Amino acid sequence: MIYPAQNSDEFLAVRTNRYNRLCKLLLIIGIVFLLIFGGLSLLDEKYLLGGVLMSCMLGCCIALHQLIQHHNSRFAVRVLNTVSIFLSLTLLVTGGRENTGVYWIYPILAINIFINRFWQAVILYGGFLIVCALLLLTPLSELMVASYSFTEALRIEFTLLALYLICLATLNSEELANNLLIKMHDDDMHKMAFFDTLTGLPNRWNIKNRLTLLVKKARKKPRNIGLLYIDLDNFKKVNDNYGHDMGDKLLTIFSNKLQQLAQNFPKPSRIELARMAGDEFVVVIDAPDHSARSIEMAEQILRLFKDGLEVENINHSVFASIGIALYPEHANSAGDLIHRADLAMYQAKDGGRNRYEYYSAELARELRDQEQIENRLRLALRENLFSLVYMPIFDCHSMSIVGVEVLLRAENLQMDGIGPERFIPVAEKTNLIKEIDLWVIDNALKQLLRLQQETGFSGLFCINISGVELSNEQFTTQVKQSIDRYGVAPESIEFEITETAFVLNDDRSRTILQELRELGVSLALDDFGTGFTAFNQLIHYPADSLKIDRTFVSDLFSTDKSRHNMVGIIENLARLYQIKVIAEGVETQAQLEYLQEIGCDWVQGYYLSRPLHWDDLLSFISEYEAHGFEVNPQNLNSLPPIPGR
Ligand code: C2E
Ligand code: MG
Ligand code: MG
Repeated sequence: MIYPAQNSDEFLAVRTNRYNRLCKLLLIIGIVFLLIFGGLSLLDEKYLLGGVLMSCMLGCCIALHQLIQHHNSRFAVRVLNTVSIFLSLTLLVTGGRENTGVYWIYPILAINIFINRFWQAVILYGGFLIVCALLLLTPLSELMVASYSFTEALRIEFTLLALYLICLATLNSEELANNLLIKMHDDDMHKMAFFDTLTGLPNRWNIKNRLTLLVKKARKKPRNIGLLYIDLDNFKKVNDNYGHDMGDKLLTIFSNKLQQLAQNFPKPSRIELARMAGDEFVVVIDAPDHSARSIEMAEQILRLFKDGLEVENINHSVFASIGIALYPEHANSAGDLIHRADLAMYQAKDGGRNRYEYYSAELARELRDQEQIENRLRLALRENLFSLVYMPIFDCHSMSIVGVEVLLRAENLQMDGIGPERFIPVAEKTNLIKEIDLWVIDNALKQLLRLQQETGFSGLFCINISGVELSNEQFTTQVKQSIDRYGVAPESIEFEITETAFVLNDDRSRTILQELRELGVSLALDDFGTGFTAFNQLIHYPADSLKIDRTFVSDLFSTDKSRHNMVGIIENLARLYQIKVIAEGVETQAQLEYLQEIGCDWVQGYYLSRPLHWDDLLSFISEYEAHGFEVNPQNLNSLPPIPGR
């Protein structure tokens, strides 16, 4: 139990509060009665009785004061017990006023008995009964002022006994009921603290405790444990599109299927399941061949999602990403095991849907590096450490400068040789990319305006944007705002989107691309050939140019014929669809000549110019316009130093 003491305490506090109120009431009633009967007895010249009643009344006043001022119910209960027993004995011995006092003993005791616990009442009033019996039926009866016949004495004693038993029985059943309530309350809390209310599976704390025990046992007597961390892909979409009820049903269905798998899993494996949070689940496999069993389980789970998951006759495109970590190979504590499987799960998610991935040390290093890059990107955004470099693009035939590709650099990452190829994917994963893309667009357009004004530049400004923007519905508006801010012609802007971002894209992406084109900007499919665009689908993409990936250009004279032919194939294809072809990564004269020969439209590459800082770009353009491009390998060395590469 996790919080039993606290819950019982809460319960006892409620009970104490009730006692307090009962005591207050009894004390007030007692004070009034004792005052009246004490006064009457004194007037009757029954000084002994009057004195006893008045001193009892004083005692009650003190107890009431304590109770109100200091909430000291213990003191009040003690005073009430003493007063009621003392008073009852006095009434028994003296017979009270007009010998009827003995009848007051019954209600005084009955009411008073309820402010005590069962065992306190047994002892206290049991003792009182014995004293009464001694006074009434033994030689001690000589102490009695009032006189009772033997039958009367017996009747008083038996009535008191019956009253005592009835009160005790009531008290006992009340206490039992209270304890039962506390237990039920604690059980509920226990369930809530250790089990997931939706699926009934153990929760995060529970599985961590069980795993800790398992690992402890494994340290004494070696055993192998496999841990699968499952996360459902696209679950959020189900919640967003169909509501949380549907999401809950989906989770319950999956949890039931998971339990079924666990039940039918080959022995001697011991399986434990848990729901960690939202759409995250864990499977713990305690088996000698934990590695093979973990894979078997992962494959069975993935099979559940082969065709999505059906809930209420609707098929949801939900899949699973699973990370696997093994004890003792990957971790030696429960926390590490969960954490590492979780890391592996992220890796599986990155690799595409419905797959599993093992934890590895390289993976951990990779994730640590990514985290560092993320932090430095945030810093760069905060402290304006980003800058742009510019890479001229040339017409393949006239060799004039027809465009400039804008490339991003981050000062604080560049020191460690980390360029955009490495940090852009991190920015995409952490959603920093939207802010970064906007920064790039805004600054690029500002510079484009300057370039046009200072050099009369009339070429294209090619700005890379992330594929993430294809699902960003505000993107077009933001771009339009930037264009309006600087008043540049949209026709002088081309956005480059890497081909892989087009893969698996839906209507929404196409709409965004269409909207961009309607603004007047052109679009380029960057790194073409690295993705999986079916060539015959090119017609459906609103692209104005293809940028052949530099790996194909560098493979131009490779012995692998198919790699060599690739550039030619892309070129033919682009011509078929009347799309402009830009070859990037031209590093040699031979490559340039080949590209010119096959009719490529534009080229860029280190052979022609490296990415340049702003000032270098200005002088490059003016010098180039004066002297033109001389095809001379020495050119490469005379070009400015490589900014950012
Ligand atoms: P990309 O758009 O394909 O950019 C071309 C990359 O190839 C640039 O690297 C450029 O320096 C390099 N390159 C060009 N010619 C040659 C050559 O002859 N030899 C060699 N070895 N490399 C050449 P960079 O600047 O490191 O950019 C890498 C990628 O990062 C870009 O590929 C682009 O996908 C992305 N990227 C760069 N800047 C931005 C940006 O501002 N926003 C976004 N979203 N992505 C960017
Ligand atoms: Mg590019
Ligand atoms: Mg490229």
